[in-house]
Amino acid sequence: MAVQAAKEALKSWRLLSEDERATYMRKIADRMTERADEIALAECLDCGKPLALAKRMDIARAIDNFNYFAAVVKTQHSESHQTGQAALNYSYRSPVGVCGLITPWNLPLYLLTWKVAPALALGNTIVAKPSELTPHTAILLAEVCTEVGLPKGVFNLVHGTGPVVGNAMVAHPDVPLISFTGGTATGAMVGATAAPYFKKVSLELGGKSATVVFDDCDFDRAVGETVRSSFTNAGQVCLCGSRVFVQESIYEKFVQAFVEKVTNELKPGDPEKSNFGALISSGHRQKIEYYVDIAKKEGGRILCGGKRPNLDAPFDMGYFYEPTIIDGLSVNSRCSQEEIFGPVVVVHPFKDEKEVMEYINGTKYGLAGSLWTNDLNRAHRMPAAWETGMVWVNCWLLRDLRVPFGGVKHSGVGREGGNHAIDFWTEVKNVCIKL
Ligand code: NDP
Repeated sequence: MAVQAAKEALKSWRLLSEDERATYMRKIADRMTERADEIALAECLDCGKPLALAKRMDIARAIDNFNYFAAVVKTQHSESHQTGQAALNYSYRSPVGVCGLITPWNLPLYLLTWKVAPALALGNTIVAKPSELTPHTAILLAEVCTEVGLPKGVFNLVHGTGPVVGNAMVAHPDVPLISFTGGTATGAMVGATAAPYFKKVSLELGGKSATVVFDDCDFDRAVGETVRSSFTNAGQVCLCGSRVFVQESIYEKFVQAFVEKVTNELKPGDPEKSNFGALISSGHRQKIEYYVDIAKKEGGRILCGGKRPNLDAPFDMGYFYEPTIIDGLSVNSRCSQEEIFGPVVVVHPFKDEKEVMEYINGTKYGLAGSLWTNDLNRAHRMPAAWETGMVWVNCWLLRDLRVPFGGVKHSGVGREGGNHAIDFWTEVKNVCIKL
């Protein structure tokens, strides 16, 4: 039914001018801004993430997504190529059609709007399936769309589990594009289901990103940002650096400062007040505990965390877990190779650039990385050899919506963001006129 409604709405939505669609996108952004506190609280309660983080990151960036793509759609241009005196070619972009969007629970509204905004701005209609664990802000977005008068059927929201509802969307013959963000194993199923239909598919999948710290870095900034890159949203961000490599000359000093800062500054507790929230579910906390047990069996030393915090009621019932730093493991250990997606990082020493390049490329993932050095040559050389979609040098998660976003290897297929979003969310057609 949702696909049918989206198909029907597409007939007129795709014919609107860029200006008209941009106006709708801005209205959605404005209404979300008016309701920002309420939406942030919903995200906090649904995910257990800190309210301050939901306001600063999730909701602020969700609003940015609509404002950004409202601007992008107005800068779209077509190309023409003259074939001598013989012909004139012109190429222009059209919407793909009804787009299926499937999103995870870690950044529910942020990731959903990263797909909804370009899809709609570029003339598509959508059917979105948020995670069953965190559907609340998607419902609020649907309300906002209704409040600003978005034509019926342009934005459609469906609920239900991935294997049933998500899979039905991926296998639907009238949905020619699937944009999926989630785990690598699920992404493989989505890709396999979509392949026989020759759909456009974007897969933003899991990661095991590295943070690499050289002894010539700005030490205090590197420590502070490594706390952030390791433990933002309790490590439940695909871009988090869960393997931290530190040059052996500063290893002891760095690890001591890192552990101290984490222990002193990150305090699990009431997500409405604290800076360190809960995990998404009991099952996910069990997964974290399973990996920490493996680390202990494999000879890892728990430098901090490694257990549930002691919290007063009612938070003793929440799925909290202390930020955890482990060392003493091999770079090939399971905790250093497999995606844990929680507040657990593994630290390793390294001797030189050659050695650390082998370590960082020695995983099946390739989503992001963060490099800390003041050596300008190294700052260019290493990202070029790094098997990953994104590298931040002397920073982490400094986002610019114009840049490509996506991973390589088992971290995904395709790029979204900036001009890559225009490529993905449209079809280009060439017309050749004989002169
Ligand atoms: P999942 O892969 O379990 O689920 C993601 C979404 O896919 C959910 O909406 C889920 O539905 C749905 N789904 C599950 N099975 C299918 C199926 N067979 N067909 C279609 N859809 C399906 O991931 P999580 O929700 O656990 O999210 C965490 C993962 O997401 C991590 O691996 C993380 O790295 C990754 N991620 C990647 C990002 C990136 O940009 N590369 C960004 C953020 C997260 P439901 O769960 O409701 O049943």
